[in-house]
Amino acid sequence: MSAGAAETAGIEYTSFSGWIDPPAEHAPAVEGEIETDAVVVGGGYLGMGTALRLAERGIDVTLLEAQFCGWGAASRNAGYLTNTLAGDARMLAALHPRRLRGAIRFADSSVTYSDALIERHGIECDYERTGNVIAAVTEGQLRKSRQSAKILVGAGADAEFVLGREFGLPDAFLGGIFERAGGVINPGKYARGLRDAVLKSGAKVFENSPVGEIRPGPAGVVVTTPNGRIRAERVVIANNAHSRDLAITPPRMSAPVWVSLVETEPIEPERLLATGWTSRVGISTHHLVLESFRITPRNTILVGVRNAEAGRGALGAREVDPRVAADLVRGFRQRFPSLRDVAPRRAWGGWIAITPSWLPVVGEATDNVYYAMACNGHGLAQAPYLGALLADRLAGGTPHEDLRNLWRPRPWFTPSPASSSLLLRAVWELDRLSDRFGRRGD
Ligand SMILES: Cc1cc2nc3c(=O)[nH]c(=O)nc-3n(C[C@H](O)[C@H](O)[C@H](O)COP(=O)(O)OP(=O)(O)OC[C@H]3O[C@@H](n4cnc5c(N)ncnc54)[C@H](O)[C@@H]3O)c2cc1C
Repeated sequence: MSAGAAETAGIEYTSFSGWIDPPAEHAPAVEGEIETDAVVVGGGYLGMGTALRLAERGIDVTLLEAQFCGWGAASRNAGYLTNTLAGDARMLAALHPRRLRGAIRFADSSVTYSDALIERHGIECDYERTGNVIAAVTEGQLRKSRQSAKILVGAGADAEFVLGREFGLPDAFLGGIFERAGGVINPGKYARGLRDAVLKSGAKVFENSPVGEIRPGPAGVVVTTPNGRIRAERVVIANNAHSRDLAITPPRMSAPVWVSLVETEPIEPERLLATGWTSRVGISTHHLVLESFRITPRNTILVGVRNAEAGRGALGAREVDPRVAADLVRGFRQRFPSLRDVAPRRAWGGWIAITPSWLPVVGEATDNVYYAMACNGHGLAQAPYLGALLADRLAGGTPHEDLRNLWRPRPWFTPSPASSSLLLRAVWELDRLSDRFGRRGD
């Protein structure tokens, strides 16, 4: 991968998000001692979803966020609100034959739940209900698409195999798996809307309050922040990629990975239509590490991922590596040759967490300390739903079938291949080889 000064000229790099600015005012930080029924650590979709539901159920809940609610992947992602499972369907069917049907039901329900959440709180997030397509750019990928669609439909998914041009995909995409539910949103606005809802709920929200330690004891669980101590009956760890920094998180639960996005300048609507992209559907590809392309409400194209970088050391704020930005721009020009002159304008990225099974995980780390993670780069719809299901259980309700299907009896995990930089680099090479030698089909 080369630095590609020509590809990246004019890009503005931001260490937050291109979707939204940080909030002007923050909730206060924790000072001193607090007693509460439940603490939620992390104000992303999962933490906000959990806290909102607990508050709705009348539980005294305290949400602790290291920066501000929505600071993490929640405000940074590409905005595909989808029932797509993170792993390739053929791999999931081979590794988890008995869990696949339940995981698909969970993912479908998560879109229904998110739709209702957006509606209930009147969140304006530029939602286009287009569905999404996992698309093929080579004949080999198209064969995989057909097989995967069969597996998904056989296991109950609301999906179908479609062909490119006739469905309204841009010319470079031969066809793929159309997942009808959901569509594309502005995730920054969605995260801000959820933050507003949590701030208005009965939940106590503290920002700029990074949790350093969670210590269970006979008189409850003690959670420590720089200037405070919170004693609670129960704690939920919901800080996604950052959870590995808490000593109490089950070892190897997930591997943190940095992924990047580049947004183009606005494109005239006629030029966009001329690419064949009449469906406006959100597109991700069948590569080992996906490429993603979507149209935004400002008529730009947002191009994503291709590169997954293993998280080493502290997972702080960072900007996209210009070499990665250049690679994304090259990918864009390869898939959209008629838009080669369109300039990239902005780049940002974020930390995601990859679990060893590629499925969401939820369970009890130790007495009264729970963990929940529905990321794997696909948590926009799944994370708030998982949070709500866990909240219902903590509030004393009968655990929902979707929660029981994901619940882990023991907090024990095998190492994730996503923690190896070498492996991730090799995967990038393999994807580029398949681009070069895979037949386009025309
Ligand atoms: C570039 C990018 C593109 C993506 N595209 C999509 C997409 O199109 N569709 C999709 O479904 N998913 C996508 N994802 C994934 C999706 O954004 C995540 O799955 C989702 O945001 C996970 O929500 P979360 O609440 O678990 O984590 P996060 O949103 O990451 O929230 C975790 C929160 O915990 C806080 N925190 C961390 N440590 C502490 C601590 N010690 N104490 C207190 N708080 C702490 C952080 O500040 C953060 O606010 C993408 C992610 C990225 C980065």
